[in-house]
Amino acid sequence: MVDDKKRKKKKRGGGKKKMTAEQVLAFKAVNEWVCLGQQQQGSSFLVDDFGVQKSLGRGGEKVVFELHSHSKFSDGFLSPTKLVERAHGNGVKVLALTDHDTMSGIPEAVEAARRFGMKIIPGVEISTIFSPKNPDAEEPVHILAYYGSCGPKRFEEVDKLLENIREGRYLRAKDMILKLNKLKLPLKWEHVARIAGKGVAPGRLHVARAMVEAGHVENLKQAFSRYLYDGGPAYSTGSEPLAEEAVKLIRETGGISVLAHPWALKNPATIVKHLKEAGLHGMEVYRSDGRLAVYSDLADAYGLLKLGGSDYHGRGGNSESELGSVNLPVLTLRDFLNVARPIWFDAVRDILESYAEEPSDSNLAIITRFGRTRILKGNSPLSCGKDLIDRCLSLWLTNEERQNDLFEAIKLKLSHVSISQGGTNVPIETQ
Ligand SMILES: [Zn+2]
Ligand SMILES: [Zn+2]
Repeated sequence: MVDDKKRKKKKRGGGKKKMTAEQVLAFKAVNEWVCLGQQQQGSSFLVDDFGVQKSLGRGGEKVVFELHSHSKFSDGFLSPTKLVERAHGNGVKVLALTDHDTMSGIPEAVEAARRFGMKIIPGVEISTIFSPKNPDAEEPVHILAYYGSCGPKRFEEVDKLLENIREGRYLRAKDMILKLNKLKLPLKWEHVARIAGKGVAPGRLHVARAMVEAGHVENLKQAFSRYLYDGGPAYSTGSEPLAEEAVKLIRETGGISVLAHPWALKNPATIVKHLKEAGLHGMEVYRSDGRLAVYSDLADAYGLLKLGGSDYHGRGGNSESELGSVNLPVLTLRDFLNVARPIWFDAVRDILESYAEEPSDSNLAIITRFGRTRILKGNSPLSCGKDLIDRCLSLWLTNEERQNDLFEAIKLKLSHVSISQGGTNVPIETQ
């Protein structure tokens, strides 16, 4: 933590300086990906001591990434639309929506982001359990997954895993309520379900809110510190998968796996070691109060990406970090994209190839899962399968990535397929 303090002091002293040559290159690479080559920017950058780009050219723009946020689709308070609006207001250019165990909020976020020229990284925060031989060392672990714009390949497998966890959450919430009732703190299931909202798997936070509303505790913090903490008197586990399993699945489906908030773990070093063996890509080490040296060192020891985000829920109150408040240095963002982009590229290729092999409505639905309106309507209607591929590539990949013979072959295969306004395939012969 010592170096973080030093950094803060320096920062307070002001003093913006020119980027180093490496930072300038990194900034260009990051910006190219953010804008997908649609905007050419000036070449004069300012940077603060942390290597975070503060302004760009004369426009005074920033590239702020927010890599950890929650919406109403899990235990956040804002709809994806409101979340995106707020992120935009805070200068966020790239937002990862990482709801707990669901990706259902992504389409709405993508749609909202379109209005602000923002980019959404389809994400999810997966509830898992780390279960070593010693049962005392068992603990819950949250794994963040970041996918490319087209989402996971083999989406069904990811969806199945998430569905199982969500189902487990219903049972778990019911079990927590049972325990509270036994502790003479009466709480009704309907109350918790109403707070969670329709179709939302209830979590600990929803139980805590119901406890506050029922007057059993003064605030959320008290609900957690007295009853709901890990291993607490009203705590219950659901049917979470093993952390290693989740990491492997994320890897196999074209995602980047990142260990969330390691500072909340009892045995971060052991867990990082095991998850690295399973294929973990990175871990959170940045918070709004800076980079945490202990975890940064741990990430270095295992060659992991160092990332972080605000974990914004929209709860309000002073203790919550604001959306976009975690400063990620430009070199960090570059490293992240260097690892992620080839993996995301493979997923795009995989999904488009499957569609070219079999241009069915279900394969089309996979392509348009997260950006239906954007892809199908766009600026002009699509006339054939080739247009669809061009549209997707322009939304998902940089100019350079698009220049690939693979995609030419896919387009050729799809020249005989036409797509209706409603998003179904129509063979051209029958028109
Ligand atoms: Zn978490
Ligand atoms: Zn979170």
